[in-house]
Amino acid sequence: MKAIYLTGLKRMELGESRKPEIQQPHDILIKIRSVGVCGSDIHYFKHGQIGRQVVQFPYIAGHECSGEIEAVGAKVTKFKPGNRVIIDPAISCFKCSQCRSGRYHTCKNLRFLGTPASQTSNGLDGCLQEYIVMPEHSVFHLPDEYSFEDGALFEPLTIGYYSLLKSEVKPDQTIAILGTGPIGLSVLMAGKFFHIKSSYTTDLIPERINAAKALGSTASFNSNTTNSVDEILQLEPDGMDCVFECAGQQETIDQGINLLKPGGTLVLIGIPTFQRISGEIDLLRRKEIRIQNIRRQNVCTELTIQAFQQQPANFNLLKTHHFTPARAQEAFELVENYQDGVIKAFINWD
Ligand SMILES: [Zn+2]
Ligand SMILES: [Zn+2]
Repeated sequence: MKAIYLTGLKRMELGESRKPEIQQPHDILIKIRSVGVCGSDIHYFKHGQIGRQVVQFPYIAGHECSGEIEAVGAKVTKFKPGNRVIIDPAISCFKCSQCRSGRYHTCKNLRFLGTPASQTSNGLDGCLQEYIVMPEHSVFHLPDEYSFEDGALFEPLTIGYYSLLKSEVKPDQTIAILGTGPIGLSVLMAGKFFHIKSSYTTDLIPERINAAKALGSTASFNSNTTNSVDEILQLEPDGMDCVFECAGQQETIDQGINLLKPGGTLVLIGIPTFQRISGEIDLLRRKEIRIQNIRRQNVCTELTIQAFQQQPANFNLLKTHHFTPARAQEAFELVENYQDGVIKAFINWD
């Protein structure tokens, strides 16, 4: 079978790999149909690492995917060959102290598609290959009304949903989302299930600002051409109940602290490329700001699928670019350089 390898920094190559096989009774063999290119994949492409997780080349990236079941293990009950599925890239052990406390996403033995090993964690090849094997608990039925690309979008959407849960935002509160790439837009889209009163958004890329408007942002600002903080505070002088930082930049962290009302929550979702972040302690302390970090998501796939089935959103606004596996290099370069108004690019297998 074919696989797309990261063979060096900024170099993707299509090559051959051995087709995986079902080994455990709860395993499912899945033919991959669509893979979304994520900002975190780009970190590996561009820098060869995220923090302590360092790529050993050649390496198979990718974790946002959907596919079709080819075969199931002897004890699989919920799925059969031919089923269209959404894949949760996380494989937890369900035995360690983190799993026993319900924190499956910070499992001590976690394996996650397209994540290299570190000193403290296991590595796992990604889904940029024709077939993968996943345990039954990481697989979910893709509802008929969704395409395979929609199916691959569910992974970032679950992060939006989980971020809202962790923010403890309440109905009729006001939020700001700083950075409306796929994750910021996922927060915006999931916000409707939490009955947010107003969602203010900022970005630097016109297409992302327009997508946020089309997806129901109360007001959407370009921080390149306007002082977004002043603009938002003019409309909401009391400030925000929650700010979702989705850019991974020091500047947006500072903006978030300025935008929050006393008692507000700063939710950090963006992945910075630098090692440390800072904040003005005078403001953080006086406003008694709570900071909530987000690590992917925990048990939100089913909840997110159900939520969107009740209120289907326009996934098409996020799906901007489509590539064949042979053009993976182009797809990654496009996303790396924020070219052509890209929001989410997909690599689709036949
Ligand atoms: Zn992702
Ligand atoms: Zn565990």
